Amino acid sequence: MNIPNTELPRIVIIGGGFAGMALARKLLKEDVQMVLLDRHNYHTFQPLLYQVSTSGLEPDSIAYPLRKITRNSKNCFFRMAEVKSIEAETNTIHTNIGELVYDYLVIATGSKTNFFGNDSIEENGMWMKTVPQALNIRSLILENLEQATITEDPEERKALLNFVLAGAGPTGVELSGAIAELRNNILPKDYPDLNPAEMNIHLLEGMDRVLPPMSEQASRKAQKFLEELGVKIHLNTMVKNYDGHLVTTNTDLAIKSETFIWSAGVTGAPVKGLNASAMVEKANRYEVNVFNQVNGYDTVFAIGDIALMKTEEYPKGHPMVAQPAIQQGKHLAKNLKKLIKGEKLEPFEYFDKGTMATVGRNRAVVDLHKWKFSGFFAWFVWMFIHLWFLIGFRNRIVTFFNWTYNYINFDKAARLIIRPFKGHEKSMEIERDKV
Ligand SMILES: Cc1cc2nc3c(=O)[nH]c(=O)nc-3n(C[C@H](O)[C@H](O)[C@H](O)COP(=O)(O)OP(=O)(O)OC[C@H]3O[C@@H](n4cnc5c(N)ncnc54)[C@H](O)[C@@H]3O)c2cc1C
Repeated sequence: MNIPNTELPRIVIIGGGFAGMALARKLLKEDVQMVLLDRHNYHTFQPLLYQVSTSGLEPDSIAYPLRKITRNSKNCFFRMAEVKSIEAETNTIHTNIGELVYDYLVIATGSKTNFFGNDSIEENGMWMKTVPQALNIRSLILENLEQATITEDPEERKALLNFVLAGAGPTGVELSGAIAELRNNILPKDYPDLNPAEMNIHLLEGMDRVLPPMSEQASRKAQKFLEELGVKIHLNTMVKNYDGHLVTTNTDLAIKSETFIWSAGVTGAPVKGLNASAMVEKANRYEVNVFNQVNGYDTVFAIGDIALMKTEEYPKGHPMVAQPAIQQGKHLAKNLKKLIKGEKLEPFEYFDKGTMATVGRNRAVVDLHKWKFSGFFAWFVWMFIHLWFLIGFRNRIVTFFNWTYNYINFDKAARLIIRPFKGHEKSMEIERDKV
């Protein structure tokens, strides 16, 4: 791996997501050797992936090179590596580019899509955890619109213009809202041969409301916003099967569709090797104590989505969103410094800053502790917060410019089929398999 030997304690971080990056940044100036590993050479700002898949943003505006973090520190290193397993008995990790011994190991590998054992969905559906997957969806949507303009078969056209999303959490809601805007604003201009009324967006949800993790008020508003945009919402509806052409549900719906997007859940993405007692099996996440130490290990830590810390307030662990990941990363940096100095560790306490989701142009819902609001102001707050948290000055400027341009022109500039998806599904299987 070409990491120099050192007298300094070596901290290895697996994963440059929200948690791993927050931790890495806080260790840059410390007397430690820090090695950050990720299978991608960039950080992904997942909350804006849906904008990449619906042509609102270019992929590079939501990705940030991980080498930029370590480049000014002589004791900190980045390696693009897939970690295959952990051998805690010898403090060693095994990766696709070699082995590395650690003094402290931090697992920040996040989560992966949960198909709940439904093979037909995994085989034939689309999902969105990474930039390449978002680009796959962008290509598929645009390729289906292209094909719909040339087919003479009305049944085939119907299937090409039916967009079905399963799961009405923030991702499903934001994605279906953005696809509806594509239909309302782009279709009439770019595809004059197509009738926008023929393009249908179906959002299926197993529970009795959209945005189940948010307040009932937010759910009601989000549903109203989606219906105003023309999204067809099917509540209490679970997908049974998708064979690549037909979506069937427990309510006997059968929708012919060439685009089926699964956004109905995630599960932890652990690395092989630790004892079974380290895991909460049902959640596929590492059980950690209030210092983020993995159950049964003194020098192995887990932070972010992959860590399940049971507390009185959060008996099932913290929500799998960005804030707990960032806060745990920053907090663990303090505790690792204390641990190295032999000082007492401080327990982690989560500060819930609230949740939000946007439903297309001018519409969003925001739940804060004591204040819940929606509409234009909420949308403005949503935009400001996302720009603020987006990593990298360049990304903020580019995104701000894109959003302003899109807003004024009712446009989505990045509607390009750079890497066709249809007919290439197999060659993209590696990425599809991973996360
Ligand atoms: C589409 C989508 C929309 C979202 N929207 C929101 C939102 O609006 N607000 C919000 O708060 N949260 C949102 N989330 C959730 C949020 O993105 C996650 O909670 C957050 O990313 C968790 O951070 P993390 O650091 O634990 O994991 P991640 O950010 O997922 O990072 C994990 C990193 O580990 C790397 N990795 C994994 N396994 C390995 C391995 N074996 N070897 C090497 N590298 C590995 C991955 O490449 C990745 O870079 C969204 C998530 C998705 C998918």
